[in-house]
Amino acid sequence: MRTLIAGVAIVVAIIALVLFVQNEPTSDPTVTSTPEALAAPTATIGLIDDARINNADSEPGNWLAYGRTYEEQRFSPLTQINRETVGELGLAWARDMNTNRVQEATPIIVDGVMFLTSSWSRVFAIDAVSGEQLWFYDPQVPGEWGRRACCDVVNRGVAVYQGRVYVASLDGRLIALDAATGIKVWEVDTIIDRERFYSITGAPRAAKGKIFIGNGGAEFGVRGYVTAYDAETGEQVWRFYTVPGDPSLPFEHPEMETAADTWKGGEWWKIGGGGTVWNSIVYDPDFDQVYLGVGNGSPWTRVIRSPGGGDNLFLASIVALDADTGRMNWYYQTTPGDNWDYTAVQDIALADMTVDGVERKVLLQAPKNGFFYVIDRADGKLLRAHPFATVTWATHVDLETGRPVENPDLDYLEKEQWILPGPLGAHNWQAMSVDTEAGLVYLPAQDNPLIYGMSEEWKASGVYKRNEGGWNLGIEIAGIAQLLLNNLEDQPTPKGYLKAFDPLTGVDKWVVEIPHYWNGGVLGTAGGLVFQGDALGYLTAYNKDNGEALWQFNTYTSILAPPVSFMIDGVQYVSILTGNGGGDLFSGEPLPPVAEPASLTYGNYGKLLTFKLGGNATLESPTAVDRSIPEQPPLTASIEDIARGERLYGNYCGFCHGLVVRSGGSISDLRRISEASHDAFNKIVLEGMMASAGMASFADVLTEEDTARIHDYVRARAIEDREVALGNQEAPRLTWLQ
Ligand code: CA
Repeated sequence: MRTLIAGVAIVVAIIALVLFVQNEPTSDPTVTSTPEALAAPTATIGLIDDARINNADSEPGNWLAYGRTYEEQRFSPLTQINRETVGELGLAWARDMNTNRVQEATPIIVDGVMFLTSSWSRVFAIDAVSGEQLWFYDPQVPGEWGRRACCDVVNRGVAVYQGRVYVASLDGRLIALDAATGIKVWEVDTIIDRERFYSITGAPRAAKGKIFIGNGGAEFGVRGYVTAYDAETGEQVWRFYTVPGDPSLPFEHPEMETAADTWKGGEWWKIGGGGTVWNSIVYDPDFDQVYLGVGNGSPWTRVIRSPGGGDNLFLASIVALDADTGRMNWYYQTTPGDNWDYTAVQDIALADMTVDGVERKVLLQAPKNGFFYVIDRADGKLLRAHPFATVTWATHVDLETGRPVENPDLDYLEKEQWILPGPLGAHNWQAMSVDTEAGLVYLPAQDNPLIYGMSEEWKASGVYKRNEGGWNLGIEIAGIAQLLLNNLEDQPTPKGYLKAFDPLTGVDKWVVEIPHYWNGGVLGTAGGLVFQGDALGYLTAYNKDNGEALWQFNTYTSILAPPVSFMIDGVQYVSILTGNGGGDLFSGEPLPPVAEPASLTYGNYGKLLTFKLGGNATLESPTAVDRSIPEQPPLTASIEDIARGERLYGNYCGFCHGLVVRSGGSISDLRRISEASHDAFNKIVLEGMMASAGMASFADVLTEEDTARIHDYVRARAIEDREVALGNQEAPRLTWLQ
């Protein structure tokens, strides 16, 4: 039997090796064994259970769970790399992730083995000292999910628990792997409706013999829920819906009755309702409860979703559930009647803090809406809600009522408005770090506005029709370029920050301004350092007392993922993934004064980098990408045709390929595609010629004529940007809409 298992392990290892060299998902998992596989190593780790995660501070050399411990503070107790020694920090090893797609994972480190995910939900077990691969697992996500996920083919990591590694795939499966071999033990489909565009990008969490997982998809129009599965068998234990469903059907659980009272008029269930839990699910051993960070509404606009008003529970809320039963203990809604994509899915950290002289067990969250919440975990009582970035949608949060006070001047029902924060949030999934000793949070924050306006379709008819196979926001997206350009002079400048923020007083102890807004997650350490990677490709160690940059390493690739730290055989390491993408694909190439991301300058390379004191490995020097635009054939399309192409591009293509056909570097820039790709344009868009790479067919929503118009628009944009680059034209027109 042992031999048989070893044999299976070897076959899997070989499959892993073969698949690893491929950049994009394969549809054919049938790969045969070869004798070389006999040497494939396996991972040896001790058993991770609740007690061990609960006592994670007693083994600071490991990083046992997503946020290191159940508290998810992302603050390492290690001190070998510190303010005095950090100057000697150098690269120990680098590993090519063999992909130019986004990297967002937090590696888990257990007993010398690193477990992490890459794009397309692929799982790696790696020797943390040498960087050598131990095993690899590819869940074979169909390429079409590149189109069915709002924000790139992201995965944020695994849970390691009771001898297994748990990963949730982009196409919505929860998979248990043997931690030693990477062999699949069980797999369940977590999706309730495969017609709708559900996806999973978040890391599962493990506690109490259960695995907790949510999903994403609110931009397309889905109904959010979280499910707990038995860690051993994969059997469903409970499911909690976050928004009410079809009112003609019975409530799935009593909390839905409470929620349904807060949705008035409208037919939200037909569009979806939203409330997806795509990032933060945190287990709290002190109260034996699980906190869900709940997302935005589907559609974004409340006048379409719930025209009679109401808070629309449990959108944009933090919900506390009994870990065993899934019944709700309490909730706190950060943004009642969400109207702006203000998800509360951002990372939740747990801490013990003295608030107004009372020792309390609190929960900390900086959701998209720009207010930093300190909440009592015992009962959900709001203790603080100071703004941590520029907030214009509300004046403040009333601590008596617990509700934000909206700014009536920025209602966008009648008139388009620049609002801060925009849908990228004042803080997104890029995790913060909590320093309880200093009473500070090291927070990757941003000021990133959007011009919000009701969709042209709704303004013309007062009716909203669900957009099958596309985004369902309710705001104007098809003509967004025109809206933006017409209001450019009023646009608040997008900015990025790393802040040392006091959640009790709302005061910044220090602020570092970063030249681009979309940067990485944060790690604080007891060595007095705060590590963060940024869009320009730098991993920097700041002095946690004053924000002074003490050490910097140029990775030449934009960084979103958070760093982690661990210690093996007396040596402390810092590891981080590089590679851009995620929720900011739409913004594309930035306009000055926002700096250009490294992924645009040098290309987007997924790399896993590990540093130690005295490390002397080097990275290959990059060359700048050739960004010249090839000559295009003369355009014969009319202005009307191009304008129609612009609207279609805005509706279906811009989310990935970038606003006004200017890509941010991780997805193909359509101004620069080859003539062969132009020749195959219809085959790519309508026949799924590049589906395995994530560019699935759009034949369900676009006709041949539509595709021709999009092609006209792409050509027109390429021509004018080329003319500007050659000096033949002063500035691009950018929009053809009247
Ligand atoms: Ca959203």
